[in-house]
Amino acid sequence: MTVLEEFGPRVTVVDHPMVLHKLSILRSKDTPCSQFRTLVKELSLFEGYEATRDLTLEEVEVETPICKTTCYHVDAGHDVAIVPILRAGLGMVDGMLELIPSAHIGHLGMYRDPETHVPHVYYGKLPSDIASRYVLIVDPMLATGGSSIDAIRYLREQGVKQLKLMVLVAAPEGLRAVLDADPDVQIYTCAVDECLNDDAYIVPGLGDAGDRIFGTK
Ligand code: URA
Repeated sequence: MTVLEEFGPRVTVVDHPMVLHKLSILRSKDTPCSQFRTLVKELSLFEGYEATRDLTLEEVEVETPICKTTCYHVDAGHDVAIVPILRAGLGMVDGMLELIPSAHIGHLGMYRDPETHVPHVYYGKLPSDIASRYVLIVDPMLATGGSSIDAIRYLREQGVKQLKLMVLVAAPEGLRAVLDADPDVQIYTCAVDECLNDDAYIVPGLGDAGDRIFGTK
């Protein structure tokens, strides 16, 4: 894990060798849809492993075949919610559920009015106790940051306090925008790329993550 000086301690780059290896295959234009999906799932699980490092533990007594011993469970007070931003965020849910099978899932579809630029939630279905949950927003690409900022704002309005944003590839512009928009959110990414192009795609990026996950190009 690396913290980049430019962005400070709220951005963590999960740059484990296996993550970088899988990310290279994910980026290739020749990687087919089925493999792309599997890689998104695996990378989400690896990243989730680091993003949940601060979950607190409680002691439990376990009897092994040899003797009784004290072990640890994740604190029952840490109920987790995973919130994918539609639609590409859906690709990260299975990997996160493999890591945290008890997590509940909320869905957020964000739409920004092209004229007023006012964000709208066109689809929002969250666990009813979302405010007290440890919430992980998932979306593979952090480009301008617009939809992440809107999602974070929406979740804060619902009372969410513990909030992290997990992406796989981030543009510096998007990281700065999200950090400026919310004073507490922590961001996890596998890579910080160079910039955005004129169409707001991340360079070098991996193209349209939603199209590549769902085979809709
Ligand atoms: N969304 C994507 O899927 N890809 C990008 O490069 C930017 C936004």
